[in-house]
Amino acid sequence: MNANYNIIIVGGGLAGLTSALHLSKNNLSVLVIEKNAYPNHKVCGEYVSNEVLPYLASLNIYPLKHQAKQIDKLILSSKTGAYLQQQLPLGGFGISRYCLDHLLAKKVKETSTIIEETVVKINFEENLFTVITSDGASFSSQYVIGAFGKRSNMDKTLDRDFASKKSPWLAVKAHYKAAFPDDVVALHHFNGGYCGLSKVENNLVNMCYLANYNVFKTHKSIPEFEQKELSKNPFLKEFLHQAIPVFERPLTISQISFETKKPVENHILMAGDSAGLIHPLCGNGMAMAIHSAKILSEIIITFYNSKSIARESLEKEYTQKWNATFKSRLKTASVLQKMFIRPGFLYVGIQTAIRFPGIVPKIIQKTHGKTIHDLNP
Ligand SMILES: Cc1cc2nc3c(=O)[nH]c(=O)nc-3n(C[C@H](O)[C@H](O)[C@H](O)COP(=O)(O)OP(=O)(O)OC[C@H]3O[C@@H](n4cnc5c(N)ncnc54)[C@H](O)[C@@H]3O)c2cc1C
Repeated sequence: MNANYNIIIVGGGLAGLTSALHLSKNNLSVLVIEKNAYPNHKVCGEYVSNEVLPYLASLNIYPLKHQAKQIDKLILSSKTGAYLQQQLPLGGFGISRYCLDHLLAKKVKETSTIIEETVVKINFEENLFTVITSDGASFSSQYVIGAFGKRSNMDKTLDRDFASKKSPWLAVKAHYKAAFPDDVVALHHFNGGYCGLSKVENNLVNMCYLANYNVFKTHKSIPEFEQKELSKNPFLKEFLHQAIPVFERPLTISQISFETKKPVENHILMAGDSAGLIHPLCGNGMAMAIHSAKILSEIIITFYNSKSIARESLEKEYTQKWNATFKSRLKTASVLQKMFIRPGFLYVGIQTAIRFPGIVPKIIQKTHGKTIHDLNP
């Protein structure tokens, strides 16, 4: 058995790395185990809500100093080209996951250890966790944070309900050189899905879309799908016509599940997408991952400081706080996604929002949180 840590974090994405920074700042020993080497690209819309900026600053992370683009406008369009442009109530910033995750990982490495390996098993016995990686190494800790994202080998190992269910959603993402405003995040509908466009650092445009596999599979390739389905939307047609791809080929993921998950499973405290994934059209998944890491870290620290070993109370408190903070956002997002992918609904929705512009900020606020300030609750 290898070194004993206070907390082992499985998965070094936004939730895992944020938890590591928060916990180590409070003198807890942390091990992060991440299966991929940093830096790496991830499938993501790469628009982050400003609600997390002050909290990230309290962890000495400043995305705007790394050329993140400040975004305060939203463009929504239906596939026939009906559209609206709206000021965002809080706004956000555009930064690639390549840059943001790497920034956090470098900061974590100043105080904690990150091992680049895949976790294959997590055992819990006599109030102690043993975490085993694919190279056979094992590590022990009092708490384990499951920050392994929306779908991981760990979900199957833990026999989580959603892991055996098929999902029709897949996603495609790539960076492009193209003319696009710095301050806009655009969401364009097409048959079977929707596509986000926004700028990231280095003046590149990130294009990321969610598509239904049943529509996708009627085409032979990604370029054909983009030409025949996405390009029916005049905004996407214009973008794809002028955009020069930077990646050799786009990144893809499939089986994206929006099923309900539990924030605690087999005593593992889940943060970020491992606890629940919000529909991407809300652009709030990353802020939620960071926020859930904050909530969880604060609870763990309180229990450590009070020398309490009442694991059950900790798990109950985290579940309650997670539900109180995020559950209604997930519900609203689920309703919105259903409406958004139905062309008739979207067209009427856009016309209504043009007539009553106050509606859109109210809906956005329902899927976002208030600004998260610092290390304190
Ligand atoms: C198509 C799409 C577009 C999106 N667009 C946006 C957007 O514009 N704005 C927004 O805010 N949110 C967006 N989201 C949501 C956002 O990407 C997620 O909510 C966010 O990445 C969650 O962070 P996380 O840390 O929970 O998971 P991740 O960032 O996925 O991190 C999980 C990590 O765990 C690692 N891992 C998994 N299994 C293991 C294992 N067994 N051992 C070790 N490591 C493991 C993975 O390699 C990964 O690095 C989008 C999501 C999708 C699907």
